[in-house]
Amino acid sequence: MDCSHLEDLYELYVLGILSGREREDVRSHVSEKCPRCLEALREAAETVCWLAQSSAPVRPRPALRARLLRRLASHDAQPAGPGKSHHLIEPGAASRPKA
Ligand SMILES: [Zn+2]
Repeated sequence: MDCSHLEDLYELYVLGILSGREREDVRSHVSEKCPRCLEALREAAETVCWLAQSSAPVRPRPALRARLLRRLASHDAQPAGPGKSHHLIEPGAASRPKA
């Protein structure tokens, strides 16, 4: 099968943002274990990881930061449903170095 039409979709597929039809086209083709597309998907995953790691952390504007903190605080004040964690972010997680 000629799969050159899928070349522009690999990064979007890895990011999970393809529309239904395109996502299904990539998924069904990859399930046939096309070596060319498997390699291209591996490279796309590396590219996406590299881009995510190379972005500099951004400090939000004070107004946005205050809004986010209010929203998190109000979320924490609500009781969690059965089986749900009510912490979106572990307290202090952002300031701790990653292991
Ligand atoms: Zn292919």
